Amino acid sequence: MTEHTKTDGLPGMDVPTAADTAGFGKAPPRSEKMSVAKVECNACPVLCQISEGRTGACDRYANRAGVLVRVDPVVLLRRELQSPAPALVPFAREGVEPAAEGLEADWNGDLLHADEVFVTGVGSSTTYPDYKPAPFIVGSKAQGVDMVTVVTEGIFSYCSFKVKIDTDRFLGAEQANVRYKGEVVGHVTTAEYGSQMLSLGGVHHLTGGSKKEGRMTAELMQLLGNKKPVECTIDGGSSLVIQAGKAPIVNGVEEQRMRVGCGSAAVGIFARQFAGVADEVVVVDDHITGVLTQHQAGRCLDMPESGIKMLGRKSTPGRYFQVANPGDGWGGTDIADPLAIIEGWEEGVAKPGLRLLMTSTTGEHAQWYVLDEALKPVERPMPPEVKRIVDRIGENCEPSLCTVLFLGGAGGSLRAGVTENPVLLTRAIKRALVNVTCGGAPAYVWPGGGITVMVDVMRMPDNSFGTVPTPAIVAPIEFSMRLEDYAALGGHVEHVFPLQEALARGAWQDDGAPTARQWVRIDDANPWPLGQPPMLG
Ligand code: SF4
Repeated sequence: MTEHTKTDGLPGMDVPTAADTAGFGKAPPRSEKMSVAKVECNACPVLCQISEGRTGACDRYANRAGVLVRVDPVVLLRRELQSPAPALVPFAREGVEPAAEGLEADWNGDLLHADEVFVTGVGSSTTYPDYKPAPFIVGSKAQGVDMVTVVTEGIFSYCSFKVKIDTDRFLGAEQANVRYKGEVVGHVTTAEYGSQMLSLGGVHHLTGGSKKEGRMTAELMQLLGNKKPVECTIDGGSSLVIQAGKAPIVNGVEEQRMRVGCGSAAVGIFARQFAGVADEVVVVDDHITGVLTQHQAGRCLDMPESGIKMLGRKSTPGRYFQVANPGDGWGGTDIADPLAIIEGWEEGVAKPGLRLLMTSTTGEHAQWYVLDEALKPVERPMPPEVKRIVDRIGENCEPSLCTVLFLGGAGGSLRAGVTENPVLLTRAIKRALVNVTCGGAPAYVWPGGGITVMVDVMRMPDNSFGTVPTPAIVAPIEFSMRLEDYAALGGHVEHVFPLQEALARGAWQDDGAPTARQWVRIDDANPWPLGQPPMLG
């Protein structure tokens, strides 16, 4: 799990002109060697020197007519969008013609419902060095209360993605390395109910291994966060295509169903329906294989024991662990023939003519047998009343999906963009005085020290994530609170400007400010970021 890809000697990262990184913590001076035709981007420690008409190493900043600009528009959320949605709209930048910046249309100025506009961190620019106030510190009113939203793009070194893959197929052993383009970028972590889990990215792979490992980790993380497909392999396991909100593709096969439950749960759920139409039911599962007549459910229904003897380790009556090895066969095991997990039949108990159903936890595999005179199961056509129950198992399976959660540490220098006294922000968040969102999506803040946030990328605007070649991940983050609470935590109140002004002129920064804004309707799943109690309660 802690292994790094061994790729020493590979070419270094494509950073631009070597940057003198000494002296961080004070305003970065322009390099004396830098050509006058270049501008220096100081939005991250790489300090690119960008020629006119070119972009920096991360493609997020450009030199347009000698002015450093943020290339992507700031994403603004509205509860409702007029139809058709406005195209890219320019900020009014002194001395720069919008047309010169490739912007298309003017904006209609509808600000009557200012409390229905939310400035996200997507495209908002970053703050570096850290002492600068965040690019947008927006004042607005919500339900008559004066509010402030501090908006920035954070540069996250400490961050990862937790990926939940709804499948019972074997992907790889717990702790096995996950590779992207041959580099180790994460590992298989503890499985959850009906799902396999991966932990991808993280500071260890971004910065603790070779340069190539860091580059590949950053590339994979950006793609995953931006809801794009990525192909990985797991050492000793499967190859996978994962994409947020889509079904996983395991070894080239698109997964369809998430299991209805473990084998024991499936026996319990459908026991009453099986009673009377089958004499024995085995639900094959890599975790717990269920055997109906031995299970408490069968006993409660007065089903006589069938005399079946199972392989594996008996846990409690009718529940067996380790009936086979993990794999992509029946129920996440490696078996193709379900009879392989039956050790035998107890003489005097098992009877010729006994009707046996074997099914997987998704109903995708199911076979019907009848015992012959020698107590050997013989496959027979499945009766319609049994098939109906198998189909119902399938009907109760949810579609298999990949869920991608971003987990980032915002408890470091990023806080200086919010307040002069960072610990006050941390404390205010813990006291629920501050609503933390990422691109307007609600972020879960972990208890304990720091500001460790977790957010579902599917609830964030598209293309919310970027990278810088340090390497690190760029992700939006917003802190919303009452104006009086912002003042109390030592906020940069002198940089608060009203929403109307923010929409007219853009970020406060002279350099690297975004040139345009883009309207996006808030995701239906998300609460409005400024309306959350106890902020307004
Ligand atoms: S933010 Fe991008 S363009 Fe600016 S210095 Fe860093 S890598 Fe270069």
